[in-house]
Amino acid sequence: MGLAYTISPATVLDGVRMMFWAAYAVKEINTEEWIVDLLELVQTKDPGEKEFHQAVAEVASSLKPALERNPKYRQAKILERMVEPERVVMFRVPWMDDAGGVQVNRGFRVQMNSAIGPYKGGLRFHPSVNLGILKFLAFEQVFKNALTTLPLGGGKGGADFNPKGKSDAEVQRFCHSFMLELFRHIGPDTDVPAGDIGVGAREVGYMFGMYKKLVNNFTGVLTGKGATWGGSLIRPEAAGYGVIYFAAEILQTKGKTLDGCRCLVSGAGNVAQFAMEKLLHLGATPITFSDSSGYIFDEAGITADKLLFIKELKNMRRGRVSEYVERYPEAVFTPVDPTHDHNPLWAHKADCAFPCATQNEINAQDAHNLVQGKVQVVTEGANMPTELEGVHILQDNGVLFGPAKAANAGGVSVSGLEMTQNSMRLSWTRDEVDSRLKQIMKGIHQGCLDAAEAHGVAGNYVAGANIAGFIKVANAMLDQGVV
Ligand code: NDP
Repeated sequence: MGLAYTISPATVLDGVRMMFWAAYAVKEINTEEWIVDLLELVQTKDPGEKEFHQAVAEVASSLKPALERNPKYRQAKILERMVEPERVVMFRVPWMDDAGGVQVNRGFRVQMNSAIGPYKGGLRFHPSVNLGILKFLAFEQVFKNALTTLPLGGGKGGADFNPKGKSDAEVQRFCHSFMLELFRHIGPDTDVPAGDIGVGAREVGYMFGMYKKLVNNFTGVLTGKGATWGGSLIRPEAAGYGVIYFAAEILQTKGKTLDGCRCLVSGAGNVAQFAMEKLLHLGATPITFSDSSGYIFDEAGITADKLLFIKELKNMRRGRVSEYVERYPEAVFTPVDPTHDHNPLWAHKADCAFPCATQNEINAQDAHNLVQGKVQVVTEGANMPTELEGVHILQDNGVLFGPAKAANAGGVSVSGLEMTQNSMRLSWTRDEVDSRLKQIMKGIHQGCLDAAEAHGVAGNYVAGANIAGFIKVANAMLDQGVV
């Protein structure tokens, strides 16, 4: 029997209809136009949230190959849903200063996406904190957490509280007041916050203490806890170490190592300190670091002893980086000059650069300066430290670029391992956690390369990270229906 007899006229008509609708669908939702529409929608809905717009633009522009390959993502409005937080909590944080005066801050928790696990992401205490910044961080966190291969959704929170210049007792009262509201929105299977800028072991301790008292339950609701009461070894080091493991993986693809490399680092906090430590372990030499007052250039190189001084200065005394030159007069301190159109830190000649302070530290001019200074690798420790134009300049000039959501995922990965250890009620050794961290960073690196290659953008880590993270969350959202 011939094929012609098996296809009825009705079936042929259906086929034609399908072809028409497929063509119509492609025309209707041409990916380029659709991305422009989406960005317009996000900007119109929340006009003041420029960092959030920037993060959405960066992700959306690199998802084109994945969206074109699987029209279901557009039909099910996956990205339209992903840019809308599942929930935002905003609350008053009243507290009393040492002089008996009442102070009021604003607290937030953005619960962005729980398709693949409980919300997970840090808390930031910094005067610049607002809803737009936390939405950008929460949005990035969704993709980052998906890349880790751990079952973690994405969230972020914090307050416009400035811990700088506050006494220990004031920080404690603030943290307790913050948790007095936040506790009802989080839980070990709901939302597990961690640290970020301005929130380290001290703040996590105070918040955990209040949470435990309120719920009368010792549970792994925060990560970054002290090692003797539920914290994981290597958690403080994880984000910084992970950034350097990621850079080492990138270099390995070119048959190179970090040994002997001179490195620009910005920041002097948690991520910067442990990035510098791992660089030293691997035979590289950090030559800069910074804080919000300015930066240090130490041409002779920052050694292990000098790094100990930096840790003591920033973690114990909470001092300014300029004090470094009082101890090491051969180094140079350059204060921040807000009139400058670039940051001179990135104009020093070096092999590698690691922005580890905050968002938007590297603009187009800085990117040109990095290229001029012969930098071969830029790996982001901070979240979104490079402006989109800067990213393109670096990539177009052959600089190997490791984006934050892949490169700094070591922090949240070890937070995930902390959650696992809490659930199992055991503690792994330093070596065990470090070797798992290394494996995870290796896996994330490979995942970015594989996704980039499979979508026709081989070697592009930005596109690879966005696509790999997106597909994992998007498929879970498709499976779970419109919720
Ligand atoms: P810390 O608070 O420990 O350190 C932040 C550092 O950046 C400080 O040196 C601070 O200077 C500097 N800094 C902050 N804001 C500015 C600014 N506006 N201009 C210049 N310098 C600034 O934070 P972390 O090291 O934890 O975080 C740094 C970055 O890494 C952030 O983008 C964070 O989101 C990201 N990150 C952190 C992870 C973690 O586990 N901690 C994990 C993944 C990413 P100063 O001392 O003057 O305030």
